[in-house]
Formats: sequence, structure tokens, C-alpha cells
Amino acid sequence: MGTALITGATSGIGLTFARTLARRGHDIVAVARDRDRLEIVATELRGYGVEVELISADLTDREQLAVVERRVRDQPVEILVNNAGFGVMQQFAGGDLDAEQRMLDVLVTAVMRLTHAALPGMIEMGSGAILNVSSIAGWITGGTYSASKAWVTVFSESLAIEIAGTGVHVTAVCPGFTHTEFHQRASMEVDTIPEWMWLDSQEVVDRALIDVRRGRPVSVAGRQYKAMSIAVQYLPRPLVRALGARRPGR
Ligand code: NAP
Repeated sequence: MGTALITGATSGIGLTFARTLARRGHDIVAVARDRDRLEIVATELRGYGVEVELISADLTDREQLAVVERRVRDQPVEILVNNAGFGVMQQFAGGDLDAEQRMLDVLVTAVMRLTHAALPGMIEMGSGAILNVSSIAGWITGGTYSASKAWVTVFSESLAIEIAGTGVHVTAVCPGFTHTEFHQRASMEVDTIPEWMWLDSQEVVDRALIDVRRGRPVSVAGRQYKAMSIAVQYLPRPLVRALGARRPGR
């Protein structure tokens, strides 16, 4: 079993990826900012009998991101999960521009640079998987967060075509509302989201790992979101824009 590097491995979807892949026998490189939480995760994952390496890095910081890039370039990994992320819920006009920039640094720049660093080693090995955690938000017009996730999905789909036949698979993972720390960290009001719209992170991760193995460029967990992913392709764009205007946290 090869090594999996997971960004944002201390909470939510990233932690579920780490637990699931460790249970399957993959050594784990866990990346996040909070060193104490990384240590707690490492202790748990070592219980599955795998090697665990920790990189405490803030992916908004180019020098710290470069440390992670070097890790995947110099010692190729079998699986890269670009998962770390957060939302900035504010009006763009007059909003905090540095906060927007930090979000793009993590959701777009880190995903692009880590993928670029990991790919040559994977292509040389003739196998590998890159899972880029995007969002259903990329289907609607929900501010810079949505725009970033649309980038992640289109980037992953494009790359999947570019590297077809190399043995390396790239999948954009598009979760809907998933129980994690995400909404609390973003101070999002989600009390009005109906229960049927919520996913469990294990459902998202299990679906993603099946889809990447099957070479599917986009992974959508849950019947409700699969139906929406089809519907949204046929909805008139003004209706999609209207949906974006009604998004939670706006
Ligand atoms: P979460 O529970 O808040 O976990 C976020 C993880 O990212 C944490 O491990 C956090 O650790 C790490 N992180 C945040 N900022 C970072 C930074 N600057 N540098 C390095 N690591 C950073 O959220 P989640 O819901 O699991 O989110 C994971 C991904 O799923 C994100 O890309 C999010 O956009 C996407 N997503 C979530 C949902 C949802 O409903 N939850 C839906 C669609 C897509 P530290 O704070 O220690 O750095």
C-alpha cells in the first residue's frame, strides 16, 4: 500500500479520508495548521498499524506550502487528497479582500501547486490518484467560494483528460452539505437546511474512493445531490443565479 498525503486531515472530510485510508493500510502524511490536533490524529491513525508523518503548514503561506510541495515531489505519494478549505461568507463589495485572497490561496493555489508537484512522480510510477475536494457550490453562483470550487471541478476534469492513459486518476469530489466544522468556522447559519440535505463525511469519502478507482472525473455522493447535479445542467442560467442569491450565509 502506498502513502496518502491529505491536506486538512485533522477535521471533517479530511479526517475521514485519513481514517479510511489508514484502515486500508496506507501510510499517511497529514497536513494542517494546528500541531496539537495533528498529534492527536497521528496517535489514532498509528493504531491502525501504519506510518504517520505530520506537516504543520498554513497553505496560505507560500513558503509553508513549498514544504508540502517538496514532500510530494521528492518522495512520490500514491494518493494526494487536496481537501483543506474554509469559506468566507461576506459580500464581495466592500468585504475583506485579504480574507478572499487567503481563501483562494487554499482552495485554488494550493490545489494547483500540490497537484503539479505530485503528478510527475505518479506518472513515472504509472499509477496514482488525486482527489480534489470541490463542492456542489461550484454549480451555482455563490460568490468567490463557488467560483473557487468551479475552478477545482473544471481543473480536475481537464486534467483527467490530459493525463488519461498514464495510470493516474484525477477526481473532483463534490460534496453537498456535510456534517463537519466547516459551517461553524465560517459562522454560517445552517439551521434552516433540511435534514435530507445533510451528508455524513464517510458517505462522501467512500463514494470518492470508489469513483477515483473507476476513473470518474467527478464524484457526487448522495441520491439527492446526484439528482441535483443532473438537474442543474438543464436549468436556465437565470434560475441558477437566483438559487445562488438564496444561498445560506449570504
Ligand atoms: P473542516 O471540518 O472545517 O476541516 C477543514 C480542514 O482544513 C481542517 O483540518 C483545517 O485544519 C484545514 N485547514 C483550514 N485552513 C487551512 C490552512 N490555511 N492551511 C492548512 N490547512 C487548513 O471542513 P470540511 O467540511 O471537512 O472541509 C473540507 C473540504 O470540503 C473543504 O475544501 C470544503 O470547502 C469542502 N466542502 C465542505 C462541505 C461541507 O458541507 N462541509 C461541502 C462541500 C465542500 P487547521 O485549522 O488545523 O489548519
